[in-house]
Amino acid sequence: MQKVKESVKGLKAYNANQVPFRIKLDANEGKNILFKDISEGLSFGEDFNINFYPDNDAVLLRKEMGGYIGISPSNIIAGNGSSEMIELVIKTFVDKDEAMMSFVPSFSMYSVFSSIYSADFIGVESNEDFSLDMDLMIKKAGEINPKLILICNPNNPTGFLIAKKDIEKLLSEVDSIVVVDEAYMEFAEGSMAQEVLKYKNLIVLRTLSKALGLAAIRLGYMISNEEIINIINNVRSPYNLNAVTQYIGAMALRKKDEITGYVEEVKKERDFLSGELGELPFEVYKSHANFIFFSSGIDDLDKRLKEDGILIRSFSGDLKGYYRVTVGSRAENTELIKSLKEIVKNEK
Ligand code: PMP
Repeated sequence: MQKVKESVKGLKAYNANQVPFRIKLDANEGKNILFKDISEGLSFGEDFNINFYPDNDAVLLRKEMGGYIGISPSNIIAGNGSSEMIELVIKTFVDKDEAMMSFVPSFSMYSVFSSIYSADFIGVESNEDFSLDMDLMIKKAGEINPKLILICNPNNPTGFLIAKKDIEKLLSEVDSIVVVDEAYMEFAEGSMAQEVLKYKNLIVLRTLSKALGLAAIRLGYMISNEEIINIINNVRSPYNLNAVTQYIGAMALRKKDEITGYVEEVKKERDFLSGELGELPFEVYKSHANFIFFSSGIDDLDKRLKEDGILIRSFSGDLKGYYRVTVGSRAENTELIKSLKEIVKNEK
């Protein structure tokens, strides 16, 4: 594939020797001397051997991911959070001094990874109301011809949702690898995950850290056409995903009804919290994710909330005075609003 970095072109995927065996003496693994009962206690089943390397292909997990998304497991790679997936894509496609683009503001790690890999990060400004102008992205991409375009949809930190037709327009106009980071897509509509086979250059990223509430197990995945999946598999580290995460992830993805129920609850709370924030002298932006972005005109709002034991996300530079708050439970949201009202009252 043309877009792949020169240094990656000749690579082959790590060959994990995963065949049935009677005696396993091929991978220098130690014996399980410390936790003899671990599989029993956690009901992991007989296949769970803590002393053997995990399934390098995460077969069972990817099957569940495929079922969850409605796509073949051969179009999926799983890894340590979508963070690892972002890094893997950059590692595969973007060489030193090559350009990668995204809207700004967006997920901060895009430009951080760009720096780490000595790439040239180009941010395309949002509109004043933090809506995103895809025609402007297409125009800039036409001028710069970046290796990679990262689209966070819904966007972190603003919660703005780009319509699916606009993403399709971008894909029809550019030749770059387009990554759509759908970390928060369960809370919105318009996933591109089932469209990956239509395009030669589309990668969709998902995570279990948000709608599935499993940030601690570090599990994310990418969905793309098989050509891209095969290339990225050549770059992926051997056994990148631990067995415990593979197991819990597979169990979790079967619980679709519970996930849908939780997402509905968050959306309801999002409406409640947006309404309540809107009653305060704040500018509140419509969110399609599990957080709300707002500006308050109070520079140290986060510090004052912290004194009351409440943490929200603050920003610096152009976004000083803007905040992002995760939608909590009704009790948490009510406490937050109570504290904010107090701060606003003292501000007068
Ligand atoms: N993408 C976006 C847009 C995010 O907001 C986050 C987490 N804040 C991530 C990716 C990373 O998520 P994880 O590594 O937990 O899957």
